[in-house]
Formats: sequence, C-alpha cells, structure tokens
Amino acid sequence: MGYTDIYCVICGTSTHKYYSSNLEDLKTLLDQGKYRIPLKSKLSKKEKEIEPKLADNYKKFIKDINKVKSKFNWCNKTCLITDKKVIKIDNKFYQDDNGGFEKESEYYNTLKYLWDTSDRALICHQSCYKLLEKKSNYKLKIDDVANKLNDKSLLKSYGKIVDKYTGHQDFKWIWFILNVSPFNSFERLLNDKKKLKISKNIDFLMDPLKNKNNENRILKIWKSYNTKKKKREYQWVYQNLFLHPPKVGLFIDII
Ligand SMILES: [Zn+2]
Repeated sequence: MGYTDIYCVICGTSTHKYYSSNLEDLKTLLDQGKYRIPLKSKLSKKEKEIEPKLADNYKKFIKDINKVKSKFNWCNKTCLITDKKVIKIDNKFYQDDNGGFEKESEYYNTLKYLWDTSDRALICHQSCYKLLEKKSNYKLKIDDVANKLNDKSLLKSYGKIVDKYTGHQDFKWIWFILNVSPFNSFERLLNDKKKLKISKNIDFLMDPLKNKNNENRILKIWKSYNTKKKKREYQWVYQNLFLHPPKVGLFIDII
C-alpha cells in the first residue's frame, strides 16, 4: 500500500478495508506450480515445484478466506474523536497518507506526533466506540489517554497476539489470520511445508459487538483506564466539595 495504515486506538487493529495483495501473489504461485526457494533474507533464483497436496491445502485456504472476508467490513466503519465531538468518517472526508482527515475546511490529524500541525483527533472503529459506551458506560476522550499514547496514537499493549501485528505500515492481515510471523512470505511457508489454516486469531478481526472473545479482550484493556478515570473524578469531588464545601445549598443538590 502507498500510505501508512492507521490503527484503531481502542482495539489496535487496522482501520482500513481488508486487502490482501499477498493472497493474489499466492494465486500466481499456485497457477505457476512452482516457487523460488527462500534464502535467509531474499529469494534465490532456483525454483521448486509445489507438491500437489500442499497446493490443494493452499487453494482451500484462499477459498476459506474469501468466505469470511466480508466479516471484516466493520473495520472500515470508523469515527474521529476530536476535542469537541465524535464524527463518523464518511465518503466526504479526504484522507491523506499520514493519518490526516479533511472535510469542509476542517482538518484533523490522528497521529500524535502530528498533532501540532492541525486539530488533534483519535481514530477508532465505530463498533469499538459503541462497545466502550455500551458495556463500560465510557465515552472515550482524548485527554483521558493522551499521555498514554505513543507517537502513532497507540496504547502500550492490545494483548500479546495483536501487539505482534500492530503499528506496521501495512496491517498484516493474512499473517495475523494464520498466526505466523508478521515478516513472512508464502515461499517460506511452502518451503517449510506448512499447511495453512485460519487460526483463532481471527476472532480479533471480528466486530467486537458480535464476537465475545474480541469484546472481552478490548474491555480488559480499557478497564484499567476507566478505573483510573473514576478515581480521578472521585478525587475532584472530594477535594472540591468535601474539603471546600460550598456555602450555599449546592452541596445538597449534587449529592
Ligand atoms: Zn477498533
């Protein structure tokens, strides 16, 4: 892809449409019936034939992925959290190559290291935002997490599995689904005679409003942020009302 992949601040996976150019490459390899033997860091000029049994397994994997890929569509429905409002990203938005979004002369950037160039914002899936709102009664605000985010506006961890594949220029859809190293090639997998199968990782690419495993993973990540936020609010009430109670009847009203 020619531009940087942008990741959801809530769940840590891609906010781009499902794409898999490497699956196209795999089709080409299978059509040719052979592949170039991988060396340590590149492919050699020597070729090897693909075993028919392995070829059948790889063809089945392509079919299996095609059957489920529409379930990734939720990833493409995103919103911007700005300091003033939450905005659904629709077709009228122009997205630049570096996490910037522009519409009707409003310009936001979702990457923390570019926040000084425009209005700051965070990007997340609409489903992820709704999940926190519905299950944790929490509406994400930039201020709550700003100092916890890295330059790319991501939290330190989204769970062991997701962390391996998150934050790269391209989201490694296929390697994620297969649960293999994010730096891979089909030549390498063929050469290792590795059979391909959709792994349990696929749960984390499913809509968290529909997939319980993904829901649990995300709520666990955000639970700690919520607790901290509640503590802070409590502290504010304590300091402002209990230590310095207002003289008028306001105190009673608030309680
Ligand atoms: Zn998300």
